[in-house]
Amino acid sequence: MLIVMSRQATPEQTEAVVTAIENRGYVARPIPGGERVTIGILHNKGPVDASPFLGMPGVSDAIPVTKPYKLVSRECKPEDTIVQVGDIAIGNGNLVIMAGPCAIESELQALTIARHVKASGAHIFRGGAFKPRTSPYSFQGLGKEGLEILAKVRETTGMPVVTEVMDEDTFDLVESYTDIIQIGTRNMQNFSLLKRAGRASKPVLLKRGMAATIEEWLMAAEYILEGGNSQVILCERGVRTFADHSRNTLDLSSIPVVRKQSHLPIIVDPSHAAGRRDQVIPLSRAAVAAEAHGLMVEVHHEPEKAMSDGAQSLYPDQFTLLCKQVNAIFDIFHSKSL
Ligand code: PEP
Ligand code: MN
Repeated sequence: MLIVMSRQATPEQTEAVVTAIENRGYVARPIPGGERVTIGILHNKGPVDASPFLGMPGVSDAIPVTKPYKLVSRECKPEDTIVQVGDIAIGNGNLVIMAGPCAIESELQALTIARHVKASGAHIFRGGAFKPRTSPYSFQGLGKEGLEILAKVRETTGMPVVTEVMDEDTFDLVESYTDIIQIGTRNMQNFSLLKRAGRASKPVLLKRGMAATIEEWLMAAEYILEGGNSQVILCERGVRTFADHSRNTLDLSSIPVVRKQSHLPIIVDPSHAAGRRDQVIPLSRAAVAAEAHGLMVEVHHEPEKAMSDGAQSLYPDQFTLLCKQVNAIFDIFHSKSL
C-alpha cells in the first residue's frame, strides 16, 4: 500500500501519517518525489486498511501496490531515479559509459587502459580487485592492492571507479575505496550482502543473476532500497540459455520491461553477455537503441595477455569506435525531430 500525500502537504502532516502507520505495527518509508511525497507501507503481513490514513490531513490517495516489489516499482515512484556519482548523473536522459579491464593487474595496466578509455569518452572506470572466478586456481584479483590502484586511477584521470564486492568481510574495505559498489551476477541473491549494501553510503550497481527472472532481480534490488539505500543501478549482463554461440544471451527485452516496472536506471554489460569480442560492438549498439541508460564494457590494451576475460575485452581502438557509434545512435533517438 502507498499513501500519496497532496502537493500542499506539510512535512508535519507527512510525519503524522508515518507515525500513524508505525503505530499500527508497520514500517513506513517516505519516498520524496518531484512533486509530492508518497509513503510506502512495508512489512504488512496481509492487506492494509487504508481508511484511517485517508482521513488524515494532507493525504490525497491510497494505492494498493500490485507487484511483490514495492520501493523499486514505478507505482511507488513514478519519476526516474537519478544516481549521482560526482558530476556524472546516471538515469538522467544521458548515456553513461563505464569501461576498463576485467581485473586490475598492475598500476601500469590500469593507468594505460584508463587513459585510453577516458580519451574515447568513457565516464567511469571499471576493474575488479576481488574477482569471482569459476576455478579456485584462476587469478583471484589483487585485493586491497587492486583497490589502491583504482584510487590512483581516480586521482590521475578524475574518473570515478566501480569495482565488485564479493562478501561481507571485505565490504567496508571496498566501500571505502570505490565510488560505485558492484554486486556481481553470482551474488545477486546473496541476501546478507544485499542487506549490507542497503546500509552502504555509496551507489550500488546490481547485476542480474545469470538465471534470474526480472522479478527476482527487482526483488534483490528491493532488499537494498528496503535497507535504506535508494541509489541502485541495475545491470543486464546476459542470462544462461541453450545458446553456445555466445557466453550468455543478452536479454535486450529486459530494458523496456525494467524501465516500465521500475524507476531505477538500467545499464547493459555486453562483454559478459557475449564472452567474445566480435559481438560486443553490435550488442552495445542494440542496447543503446533499446534505451539503456549506459554501458559497462571490458577493454584491455593487451587482451591476449589479460589475466581474465581477454577473449571478450575490446582493443582500445575498438572501444573508440564503439563510443562513436553508440553516441551517434543515442543522438538519433534524442534529436528533437523524433
Ligand atoms: C565483472 O563485471 O567483472 C563480472 C564478474 O561480471 P558478472 O558478475 O556479470 O559475471
Ligand atoms: Mn570479466
